Amino acid sequence: MTQRLSFNGIVQGIGFRPAAQRIAADLGIKGQVKNSGGNVELIINGSEQALDEFVQRLIALFEIKNYTRKNIDFIPFDDFKIVHSNKDNTTPFITPDLATCKDCEKELNNKNNRRYHHPFISCVNCGPRYTIINTLPYDRENITMSQFEICENCLKEYTNVPDRRCHAQTIACQECGPETNITIEEACSILKNGSILAIKDIGGYHLACRTDCIESVKKIRKIKGRDKKPFAVMFSSIDEIKKYCKVNDKEKELLLSPARPIVLLEKIRDFDISVCGESEYIGAFLPCNPIQIMILNEISPLVMTSANISGEPIITDDNEIKRLGVDILSHNREILTPLDDSVVCINADRVQFIRRARGYVPLAIEIENFAECDTLCLGGDLKASFAFLRDNQVFMSQYFGDLDDQSAFNAYKANIDRFAKLHGFRAKKIVADAHPNYFSSSIYSNDSFIQHHKAHAASVIAEHKLNGKVLCFAFDGTGYGDDKAIWGSEVFLFKDKRMQRLAHLDYTKMIAADEISKNADLALACYIGGDELVEKALENNINTCLSSSMGRLFDAAAALLDIKHYNSYEGECAMALEAAAKKADKAYRIEPSLNPKKILLELKSALKKASKEELALGFHLMICDLICELALNYKEETGVSQIALGGGVFNNRIITSETFSLLEEKGFKVYINEIVPCGDGGIALGQAYLSSLEV
Ligand SMILES: [Zn+2]
Ligand SMILES: [Zn+2]
Repeated sequence: MTQRLSFNGIVQGIGFRPAAQRIAADLGIKGQVKNSGGNVELIINGSEQALDEFVQRLIALFEIKNYTRKNIDFIPFDDFKIVHSNKDNTTPFITPDLATCKDCEKELNNKNNRRYHHPFISCVNCGPRYTIINTLPYDRENITMSQFEICENCLKEYTNVPDRRCHAQTIACQECGPETNITIEEACSILKNGSILAIKDIGGYHLACRTDCIESVKKIRKIKGRDKKPFAVMFSSIDEIKKYCKVNDKEKELLLSPARPIVLLEKIRDFDISVCGESEYIGAFLPCNPIQIMILNEISPLVMTSANISGEPIITDDNEIKRLGVDILSHNREILTPLDDSVVCINADRVQFIRRARGYVPLAIEIENFAECDTLCLGGDLKASFAFLRDNQVFMSQYFGDLDDQSAFNAYKANIDRFAKLHGFRAKKIVADAHPNYFSSSIYSNDSFIQHHKAHAASVIAEHKLNGKVLCFAFDGTGYGDDKAIWGSEVFLFKDKRMQRLAHLDYTKMIAADEISKNADLALACYIGGDELVEKALENNINTCLSSSMGRLFDAAAALLDIKHYNSYEGECAMALEAAAKKADKAYRIEPSLNPKKILLELKSALKKASKEELALGFHLMICDLICELALNYKEETGVSQIALGGGVFNNRIITSETFSLLEEKGFKVYINEIVPCGDGGIALGQAYLSSLEV
């Protein structure tokens, strides 16, 4: 449970907060403590017994006479923190949406409970939060539950202090809560018959169907305009997931966490190829709300994918969903904020975010620097996500997709305003990516521009609160460089608050069209020739640019090895190359080099000597060797011993785990993003960090 404690009249500076932190650590309590005016305020998480003991020990230690103690809605914490607030305008703390708790699930399945099969069961520990709040404070009248008048029975619980629903703002029951348009039984029979069902969930609609009804799966692909990208699959239980995927303890913990993200798990048994495509992973998740729990209890597994049309935001609007022409399970509780499911995986034994959204947003991320004023950081255009920085807290928004889609752009803009209003941010400084043609940079007149890869690197430094020199590797597909070239394989030394660029893949002249990031054959031709038209265009400088992109090198290698020639979605070629590498028993080793042409020609000349799987693995290991070699060189030169890995390339599991072990073996401390995506979804954090260093 979570409680809010307020102690009055404590003399500040007598070590109260560290003592609280110590006792909390003793009792396994999580939460935070801070000074607020003349009071000390705590939010604490733990068992009832632990919290009781915590309070008793503090009272005894500091001879406290006056205090208040109150149950509040569950707030997740990673640890117990002392929060420094240099001003008294404390930023509101809005809770993310939380999966149905064990107690509520028990009641949901208990025939004798008055909330048996109630699709909107919740309590102080669970239920929707961020997606239904209109304005602060978080009270009944300010959330979309306000239109439902609390019945007498619910009111009793709401006002009864020991009750789990005391002050649960989302309290509801069959008598007084929201209603669905069709019954859960009807919904289940639609799915059992093999049809597609649109289901209104926490952050928007999902499209669901049986994994074995290929026609329906294909129809969902058609509706979404999504050819190949794998669909997420919802399972009823961990045991059921284990029939299809390997699940280790860390993955299990993520699957069961209150955020209930989609977790990318290694396949051991596959569905039809229409479900997860050629991916070696299944994006698996468990039900996170009562409606999903009831449906999955009846029929599982199900394809469960955000209802949206390729590139557009998830649909939250009841009228819009009707246009898709599928059966609908809807309800009359409004969704105020569109929010996709979060996507995570375990990579090199660490949590890695692919998409940070439901269950995590809008939790704040603490950094070490203080901003002088509220700062809005606009992130980038791909996998867009913005952030507000106040004091030393960064509030990251959810994922909005790519901003070249007009409706994604509109949602992004609208949510900047909504986010600011909700938290009371008044941005005095606006920070954007340095790309001159980014949509995200076009909204405001920006005060500061942060180079893309420097932001990637800084997001790792910010997350881990690194001090001293850090050697940073920022590898991805594309970002606008300080010299107007397209960067993507950047090595920086972070020192004295500055990012110094030390190395990168040799520049290659490339066709500067969108097509280059999709067509791997085209990238390959730019590196090693072999296509007359491409060579002519490059020779005559027709729409060309210089590029040090690591992403394009992966594409070219995939094309050269005849593994994949086209990215129908971002990273498809690189993922296929990684999958091929995993199949190899041994690697065909190639020499580490910063010269992409040399690397590719070496692969080409080895085509007859080794299998493409061995070459694919050799290519991966070469990149890791290269990182290690550079790290050792710069260690000797500068004494740097901390390494930050950033950028989408580090979603690659071979690259990341091999790089970690190589570098750690050599005594380096190695860091990677664990609370924001290492891809472009995380760069707003890096922008926040670097902008706070600007004078
Ligand atoms: Zn609950
Ligand atoms: Zn009621």
